[in-house]
Amino acid sequence: MPDVTREVPFVVQIAWTRIDAHRGERCRECHPCGWCPGMAMARAQIAAWRKTRPW
Ligand SMILES: [Zn+2]
Repeated sequence: MPDVTREVPFVVQIAWTRIDAHRGERCRECHPCGWCPGMAMARAQIAAWRKTRPW
């Protein structure tokens, strides 16, 4: 496993995967307006994780 798996929590990796999957595509949770609860949660998880990181 690369070092990044030790540095990045699993939930954050999942969040990134979810955001990546939304580049040009929608999941079945996505609303017609473009807002997605899954994306919102993923962004919140990443934001919370970034606050604990100097970089
Ligand atoms: Zn979605």
